Amino acid sequence: MAKQWFRERECIHKDEGAAGESYSGVFYVQALQRLPIDSAMQMARKVESFFWADAPHIIVWLCHECANDLGIADMPRAVSQGVRKQA
Ligand SMILES: [Zn+2]
Repeated sequence: MAKQWFRERECIHKDEGAAGESYSGVFYVQALQRLPIDSAMQMARKVESFFWADAPHIIVWLCHECANDLGIADMPRAVSQGVRKQA
């Protein structure tokens, strides 16, 4: 069991060459839940979807703009090193 289980999702801007960071899926979901529903739905359209139950096994790559929209751009602890502690 373990590390290979992680899957990566990314926002639509990665293909355009945007710079960004990887965040834990759990953190992404929590941030999404804090947003007003309209913003959350807009945001969710920019990132490949996954079952929230799988969030502990997901890493979400977000460009700076999307991270900003989510309100997690200024939270370095969100970056994926935190994933293993939460699992
Ligand atoms: Zn983006």
